[in-house]
Amino acid sequence: MKETLLKAVESDLSRPWYRLRFSPEVETRFEADTAARRSRHLLIAGIVALVIYDLYIFNDYVIRPESMHFSAWVRFGLMTPLGIAALYGVHRGLSPVMREATMSATLILAMLCSNLIFFASKDPYSFLDTFSFGLILVAGNILFSLRFGFAIVSSLLCGIIMTGFVAAYGYMDSAVKINTMVVFTSSAIFTLVANFRLEASERLSYLLLLSEQLRASEALHDNQTLTRISMTDALTGVANRRHFDNMLIQRWEEASNERTMLGMLVIDIDCFKNYNDRYGHLQGDACLRQVAVEIQRHVRQEGDLVVRYGGEEFVVLLPNASTTSAYQATERIRRGIEALAIPNEGVKHSPVVTVSIGTAVVRPSSSMTPSSLLLRADEALYQAKREGRNLSVIATLEEDVEAVCPSESPP
Ligand code: GH3
Ligand code: MG
Ligand code: MG
Repeated sequence: MKETLLKAVESDLSRPWYRLRFSPEVETRFEADTAARRSRHLLIAGIVALVIYDLYIFNDYVIRPESMHFSAWVRFGLMTPLGIAALYGVHRGLSPVMREATMSATLILAMLCSNLIFFASKDPYSFLDTFSFGLILVAGNILFSLRFGFAIVSSLLCGIIMTGFVAAYGYMDSAVKINTMVVFTSSAIFTLVANFRLEASERLSYLLLLSEQLRASEALHDNQTLTRISMTDALTGVANRRHFDNMLIQRWEEASNERTMLGMLVIDIDCFKNYNDRYGHLQGDACLRQVAVEIQRHVRQEGDLVVRYGGEEFVVLLPNASTTSAYQATERIRRGIEALAIPNEGVKHSPVVTVSIGTAVVRPSSSMTPSSLLLRADEALYQAKREGRNLSVIATLEEDVEAVCPSESPP
């Protein structure tokens, strides 16, 4: 999804200079991302334009005092309420096309009103206003920055309206009529060029920003995937040795600060060499996966960490453990793996795959190191191996390492 969007953004970045619109999916996203900001901009720009439009009443008073009533009616009774209604619509949220069409309509209305005001007066200076009609284009094409297509259509319609009124006005010399139309046309061209550049640069900035965002999120995703891979054992999906080394220090410090106990299980599959020799390496791999799943099933999913320490050895780290809870987890795992009933023929102590587990639980202190916990659990494991396999041995204190046979109760 993100990849296809990034491809579309890249192809839009190399589209011809005269094409403003993006490809459909980028255009949709552009509209969605910019709609709120654009509506806010249009609202503010519209209010400014309307206030200035109404302030031209002072101009009417100076130039055409005899038709002041008509001017006031057109400005305050027609343009202002319709303009406010249009801005309210934009503020409430219209579709992109309706939003641009509404703002274009307010411009055309302003043009119509201004022409009505100048046309209604016979005052010798009334026509002078026609030279300032280009300001309406400045408002639409630059202040509002109407989308280019709307800017062209509204400028054209304004020109047609103005041409009609100027042509029909009887109190204006034809040379002045031509002059005012030339000024208006020049304003239209200047403001349309500026409008095109404004929209083109807004769109270019958007594209560059979007492509940066998409690339950054892709890189973040790749990073997260790499981090996950670097912490995971590829065969079994549990944590790997590297992750364990980091987590052991972290959990050790936490337990040390919070004065809680930290438990560790070292689990070794019994006679696994025999299993491999008899059933083949691939079957051996499958067995390792089954054992990993079974271990994971018997620990707390939040907090406890199952690690493939290497070969057919697993470690479980139990933060906030007690001797009893660690022992219970140990036995659940040992019995669970035995209950999988994976045949391992040719082994003396059991016809199925079993594990031996050495467990150690300590309250970390400054006189101990994390590796001493591992050492104790390891010693307990070797004791379990010595005493016949398929056994759990739990070491609490250095002088208190005891073997627990499958049938015995916890210490
Ligand atoms: P013990 O009960 O004393 O632990 O005996 P063991 O046979 O399990 O121990 P040993 O260390 O002699 O053999 C471990 C075997 O584990 C040897 C090796 O072939 C196998 N092994 C180690 N890593 C993998 C692996 O990734 N896949 C498979 N299939 N076998 C592995
Ligand atoms: Mg081993
Ligand atoms: Mg083994």
